[in-house]
Amino acid sequence: MSSTTYALSGSTAVITFNSPPVNGMSYELRSSILADFDKATADPAVSAIVMIGSEKVFSGGADIKEFGSPKAFAEPNLPTLIGILENSKKPLIAAIGGTCMGGGLELALSAHFRIATATAQIALPEVKLGLLPGAGGTQRLPRLIGVEYATNLIAKGDPVPAGLFQGTPLFDEVVQGDLLVAALAFAEKVVTEKRPLKRVRDTRIKYPNHELFLNWAKTMVKGMAGPFPAPIKCIEAVSAAVTSKSFEEGMKFERDAFAQLMMTSESRALRHLFMAERAASKIADIPDDTPTRKIERVGVIGAGTMGGGIAMNFLNAGIAVTILEMKQEALDKGIGIIRKNYEGTLKKGKLTQDKFDKRMGLLTGTLDYANLASCDLVIEAVFEDMGVKQQVFSKLDEVCKPGCILASNTSTLDLNKVAEFTKRPEDVVGLHFFSPANVMKLLEIVRGAKTSKEVMATVMQIGKKIKKICVVSGVCDGFIGNRMVDHYGRMAGSLLDEGATPWQVDKALEKFGMVMGIFRMSDLAGGDIGWHIRKRRYIEAPEVKYSGFADKLCELGRFGQKTGKGYYLYQEGRRDAIPDPEVEKMLEDYRKEKGIVPRKISDEEIVERCIFALINEGARIVEEGIAARASDIDMVYLTGYGFPMHRGGPMLYADEVGLYTVARRMQSFADATGDKFWEPAKLIVERAAAGKQLTGK
Ligand code: NAD
Repeated sequence: MSSTTYALSGSTAVITFNSPPVNGMSYELRSSILADFDKATADPAVSAIVMIGSEKVFSGGADIKEFGSPKAFAEPNLPTLIGILENSKKPLIAAIGGTCMGGGLELALSAHFRIATATAQIALPEVKLGLLPGAGGTQRLPRLIGVEYATNLIAKGDPVPAGLFQGTPLFDEVVQGDLLVAALAFAEKVVTEKRPLKRVRDTRIKYPNHELFLNWAKTMVKGMAGPFPAPIKCIEAVSAAVTSKSFEEGMKFERDAFAQLMMTSESRALRHLFMAERAASKIADIPDDTPTRKIERVGVIGAGTMGGGIAMNFLNAGIAVTILEMKQEALDKGIGIIRKNYEGTLKKGKLTQDKFDKRMGLLTGTLDYANLASCDLVIEAVFEDMGVKQQVFSKLDEVCKPGCILASNTSTLDLNKVAEFTKRPEDVVGLHFFSPANVMKLLEIVRGAKTSKEVMATVMQIGKKIKKICVVSGVCDGFIGNRMVDHYGRMAGSLLDEGATPWQVDKALEKFGMVMGIFRMSDLAGGDIGWHIRKRRYIEAPEVKYSGFADKLCELGRFGQKTGKGYYLYQEGRRDAIPDPEVEKMLEDYRKEKGIVPRKISDEEIVERCIFALINEGARIVEEGIAARASDIDMVYLTGYGFPMHRGGPMLYADEVGLYTVARRMQSFADATGDKFWEPAKLIVERAAAGKQLTGK
């Protein structure tokens, strides 16, 4: 089937893009457009040509299926196609409705004329993938909307409504009603009035103070761009549009800059993240058309730290929530916190009074399990204790209607055991939110041995509805994220034993790009949480080695921010972590007690050991099938644990370092320490030997 349809309406040829879902600029669509264009050019009966997409989308830009494949550059590639269209001898009109992004907008700039609906959304979002528009966007757009607007659009990448550019040369008309009817009428006008056919490239940019503005923009963007080179390159490309002696010279700048950016690890990381997010939404054995259940009322058990945040997710999405506690006091406190959170947003002007009322109106508190009978999904967020989970799930099994999905927010406990507390393990699933649950994007969806496909499809759908990034995990201690963090923490703990201080470890990791060092993170989450988990693991997995230092702090009640002391000191009402000489002294005593002679440890060693610990455990998780793919590990770490975005996650980072090098380093650590911890995962060894990557096929 052709990716376009060609039709004649009077003497106007209409090329309609027909390549669902988003008219991505694939090889097929590009070829089809060109074939239709040639046909229209050759037909003497044709006096004008209209290019149009569907009502929802003109074109979403590059075809993501072609990402990284030679097909993306196969002729006619986008710049070639645009070059041919822009030299059309017959009036060429782009009629834009719905989304018009990236390569789609660049294609539209090849036309002599453009009309758009006011609500059409236009964008050049390439910067979000660490790139810049590579088919003339940086050179043509400033010619139509000026340097300031073009810089904004290109360096930020956000969509804006076409109506904003009414009256600029970008759109000859901004129309209401049927776009095709308007386009045909416009074509007729152009022909009858014999309007001159002006190419965008021939338009001169009028902007007297461009240097001043562009320098200012560069300074602004530099601070925001962090390690990413693309936003600055975008501004330089716009600058080239103004200063180049010819259009070709500007195009060469754009082409070279695009090629340079394409090769940067930062762009590779962003493209990886883009693809990883899409990949994570697919479960191999659960087809897209798997039936799902309706979720109209959600129950939440426990109105503590997590329960309140979890409830807010559903309230925000317009779904009714019943929240259950054991005592009125705890219930009032939990609901009070939810109210206070919304009041804060209301005060900042980010929530209307009407929305505030609606959200609070959807929330009901209860102490009685019978009030959960009409819920379609119940999420448990009570204490992390198997006995308590048993009580709750047995009770839920009694009161919840058939078909109700029973979910646990447990961070580490065996979900299969939890499922067996009910007579319907197929309806039990893990929904592991991250704290604060109303803010953090990540949702680990834990698939139990008996969780049904229908339940999985439903929770994936509801996860999307509450705007989470969902990653599926199998059942294991800690699932994907916390199992890896356990390894990372153990490695950081051994660095303290050997001679580092918490602040040295944190600084080194933060310099690497982690949003927060491990010890500051522990102080924020609460040292007692890790302690609770370790105490269970000392019994269940006695072979696992932990530094005993964390326990020493906990025994003194040093749980971090909430107690004013942890690895660091905290002043009342402040979050700054202050290095504590008392901790340093405690560490010295601890080492003496253990007979350890401390040594100087370099920042490089800290980063290598901590990050490689993450990589090794991540690879084991993939190898065991707990995660379906390496990119899922990266999604978890980027969205839930503050791994630096520009490094693309631990798995991509391993590939960037070189898997062979990673495997060799791990083996050398293993040989030096005799510690099984460092034996490289089979997956790493095999892939490295085959010259393959973790994130590649
Ligand atoms: P929390 O102590 O803040 O809240 C637990 C709440 O559950 C309390 O308000 C308590 O009164 C209530 N509760 C206890 N038993 C109950 C019962 N039988 N019926 C009704 N209510 C009951 O704990 P939290 O930090 O919100 O953690 C809850 C769960 O979420 C745990 O399984 C934990 O592992 C998990 N989790 C916590 C975090 C985190 O960062 N805090 C992150 C992810 C997952």
